Amino acid sequence: MSLLPKSLSRVIESFERLPGVGPKTAQRLAFYLLHVPQESLEQFAQSLKDLKSHTVLCSICKNVTEQDPCIICVHPGRDQQLFCVVEQPTDVLSIEKTGKFQGVYHVLHGCIDPLNNIGPDEIYLADLIKRLSKLGTGSVEVILAMNPNMEGEATAMYITRQINELAANGGKPVKVTRLAHGLPVGADIEYADEVTLSRALEGRREF
Ligand SMILES: [Zn+2]
Repeated sequence: MSLLPKSLSRVIESFERLPGVGPKTAQRLAFYLLHVPQESLEQFAQSLKDLKSHTVLCSICKNVTEQDPCIICVHPGRDQQLFCVVEQPTDVLSIEKTGKFQGVYHVLHGCIDPLNNIGPDEIYLADLIKRLSKLGTGSVEVILAMNPNMEGEATAMYITRQINELAANGGKPVKVTRLAHGLPVGADIEYADEVTLSRALEGRREF
């Protein structure tokens, strides 16, 4: 028989399902919430309820947004032919914080990871190629801002091949670049500081 009231153990179980949260932390968080005023808890519950119902993926760049297309995709000051391809929406936030990028994004929502059965079809890669096949005049650059690890590397190589194929089949030539080194191997873009990320962006090299 469990000593824990059901309402408490249910909250613990929910926290335990979150990434990076172990049973001990889940327990501590749940007990902490018992001390939070009812009103704040209700606000918290409401924000959780709204989380998915009030957000969509931008139909163009696949970033998480309240309006579709998102504010970056419709921004008149943004270069619509300069693309930055990232793995996660949080990477967009990190790159935006540098203030050094004036193009548009494409969010893959993951990377190619054969060990975990994630292939090119499981991420928003075909959508990127489709975007690149419908470009106007003027030069085009795609910055691959995958995380500096094996999966990120494999994903960048796969995308480059697809882009080259597109060009070989009569598509517009696209300059493909990668973020400069300085980003430590294994360090996620999400956690890179602004200075490091700005330098990596400015020193990007053709891939
Ligand atoms: Zn968008």
